[in-house]
Amino acid sequence: MLQIGLTGGIGSGKTRVADLFAERGAALIDTDLLAHEITAPGGLAIPALLEAFGPGCLRADGAMDRNAMRELIFADPAAKARLEGITHPLIRQLTEARAATIAAAGNHPYLIYVVPLLVESGSWRERVDRVLVVDCSEATQIARVMARNGFTRGQVEAIMARQARRSERLACADDVIDNEGAPEALPAQVERLDQRYRSLATA
Ligand code: ATP
Repeated sequence: MLQIGLTGGIGSGKTRVADLFAERGAALIDTDLLAHEITAPGGLAIPALLEAFGPGCLRADGAMDRNAMRELIFADPAAKARLEGITHPLIRQLTEARAATIAAAGNHPYLIYVVPLLVESGSWRERVDRVLVVDCSEATQIARVMARNGFTRGQVEAIMARQARRSERLACADDVIDNEGAPEALPAQVERLDQRYRSLATA
C-alpha cells in the first residue's frame, strides 16, 4: 500500500488538509490522536506512566495530566526521555497495527500518516514512500495558533523553536501544499495530489 507522511509546523493546517484527503477516500492515521488515546483514562500508557511518575502524573479522571507532565519535562530533561520511552513505542505499535488492519481491508487507495514531527524523526522518513509538507509562513503559523489556542506570540515561538525550520521541512518534501492563503485554495491542491497518489498506488 502506498504510504504518505503528512507533516507541517504547528498551525500550518495539517488537520484541515488531512480531512480533505479523507473526504476523497484516503485512509488516515493521526499520530497525535493516538498519543491522546494511549494517555486517556484506561489508555495503554497509563500503567507504565503510573509506575514511572507516580499518581501525581494522572488527573482525577485517570487520564495523564498533560499540564503536570509539561511542567515536569520542562524542569527535567531526563523525565522527557522517560515519558517518550513509554509513549513512543506504544504509538508505534498502535500505528503499525492500524496500518495492517487498513491494508488488509483493502478499501482505501493509499494511507496517510499525520506526523507533526516527521522531519525531526529519522525513522519516520524511512517508513513512508513520500513526504507531504503543508506549508505556510512562520508569521501565518504564529497568527493562527495565537487565534486558535489563545497563546501569546512568545508561547507560539517557543513551540516553533523546538520544531524543524520551514526550510528544513521543505527540503524533505516530495510534495507541498501551500496553505498561506484562504482555505478555499486547499481542495484543488488536494485533488491534484489525490490523483497523483492514486496513480502511484496502482503503478
Ligand atoms: P497543530 O500542529 O497545532 O495540530 P495543524 O497543522 O493540524 O495544527 P490546523 O489545526 O489544521 O493545523 O489549523 C490551525 C488553525 O488555523 C486552525 O484553527 C484552522 O482552522 C486554521 N486554519 C488552517 N488553515 C487555514 C487557512 N488557510 N486560513 C485560515 N485559517 C486556517
